[in-house]
Amino acid sequence: MIKSLKIAASSYTVSEVANAGADFGTCDHIMRHIRIKKTLSKRDRHMTLLHEAIHAVCQEYGISQYFAGEAEELVVRSLEVGVANLFTENKAFARELIQALTERGK
Ligand SMILES: [Zn+2]
Repeated sequence: MIKSLKIAASSYTVSEVANAGADFGTCDHIMRHIRIKKTLSKRDRHMTLLHEAIHAVCQEYGISQYFAGEAEELVVRSLEVGVANLFTENKAFARELIQALTERGK
């Protein structure tokens, strides 16, 4: 699994851990550290990383201030599943998007 993610202007460390509390993963916004439960399946570890990365996006872009607890969780869960489904059902779009966003001057 990837060891770090750049999210906005921040770099988040990604660690696989034996115990992520009661959750599949956690996102520490202060230490910028995402922890993923290592006993999960490959699919679940990656979906959890996407989930925690979306929490980090909410924090980094100041969206979290508009949510309270479970409201953020509902939004993040919907985006996790929705974005993953969008890209797996539209692989050509996912490839084109990454290419278009990383090309310079085109
Ligand atoms: Zn969450």
